Amino acid sequence: MKRDDNCIFCRIANGEIPSRTVYEDEEFRVILDLGPATRGHALVLPKEHYADLFEIPEELAAKAMVVGKKTAAQMKAALCADGFNLVQNNGACAGQTVSHFHLHLIPRYESDGQKIGWNPSEPSPEELDETLKQILG
Ligand code: 5GP
Ligand code: ZN
Repeated sequence: MKRDDNCIFCRIANGEIPSRTVYEDEEFRVILDLGPATRGHALVLPKEHYADLFEIPEELAAKAMVVGKKTAAQMKAALCADGFNLVQNNGACAGQTVSHFHLHLIPRYESDGQKIGWNPSEPSPEELDETLKQILG
């Protein structure tokens, strides 16, 4: 079992620090975020420590999405949410503040006033082609 003793999410996920748990199984705990973007904002935490998307094994990442889907569906109905954002941050510049992989489940309400998004840019077709070329190598 991969674990980092200094990691708060390792301790929460494994039940060493109490949390408001929405769902738990052998591999995951889903908890209410202490600084919610909206009412019901929750985090899917794997019990094993992986820093981010690039460290977590593919199979566990896939299971995190399944847990996220099931829990989001249950929360959407129970909380009468109008929509849902799933957000997953990697790296400080992308907004990751806790280096233990987690998937945000953010219920949305028509009048919640939250902004979760980005400012769209307007690249030329040449710039898009260049980007595609770089990605495909
Ligand atoms: P990140 O910015 O890394 O994507 O998300 C970290 C999230 O964890 C934030 O939304 C923050 O409010 C939440 N968080 C940080 N520490 C704790 C904690 O001790 N307990 C809970 N429940 N949430 C936390
Ligand atoms: Zn951890």
